[in-house]
Amino acid sequence: MGYVFEPAAIPTVAVEGSEDRIPVRRIFCVGRNYAAHAREMGKDPDRDPPFFFTKPADAVVMDGETVAYPADTENFHYEAELVAVIGTAGKNISEEDSLNHVWGYAVGNDLTRRDLQLKAREQGRPWDWGKAFDRSAVIGPVYPVTKVGHPDKGAITLTVNDEVKQDADLAELIWSVPEIISILSHSIALEPGDLIMTGTPAGVGAMVEGDTCVVSIDGLGSITTPIGPRA
Ligand code: MN
Repeated sequence: MGYVFEPAAIPTVAVEGSEDRIPVRRIFCVGRNYAAHAREMGKDPDRDPPFFFTKPADAVVMDGETVAYPADTENFHYEAELVAVIGTAGKNISEEDSLNHVWGYAVGNDLTRRDLQLKAREQGRPWDWGKAFDRSAVIGPVYPVTKVGHPDKGAITLTVNDEVKQDADLAELIWSVPEIISILSHSIALEPGDLIMTGTPAGVGAMVEGDTCVVSIDGLGSITTPIGPRA
């Protein structure tokens, strides 16, 4: 047997302090997981079960890489997020056991074509074109749990051209990382290399060509994303 064409390269993300890479399998994202952000999106924050959307594994972008302003949008948004990296497979994982499945954590930026997302929401259509486009998942170097433990509080901030746009604390997550992993794993089987983007705090907004966006989380460093000319 042969392939009819060469398989695509496996998408990977960096590991802090190592030459090793993490092969990315899937990217799961949690919607509206900070109360103030739910309100700014016109929704009541509540403890309804969390909902998820996905991005393709090959949407990953590394710290420092330029992202061209994407096609089909006039409202291109940043979203600062904590990213949990699954290292051990599991399904029907209990909350008590869920952190044992995490390999590490990273800073993320859930890039969003907000106009397409909101139009899809209004029309009851899938969010994919607003969320799952090329180069839509900026993922910083992954810090192993053996070095940073399981961050559940600490500042998460985002600046555009050095102006603070998002400034919150991980303790404000509506659904915690253990809860998210448990809930996800009761619906799909988690595998090593699955990334979970845990949602963004209030203050989302637009970027334009020439902007520089920086996301920081206490203990997990910072990631920088310059926005380039339209693709
Ligand atoms: Mn998000």
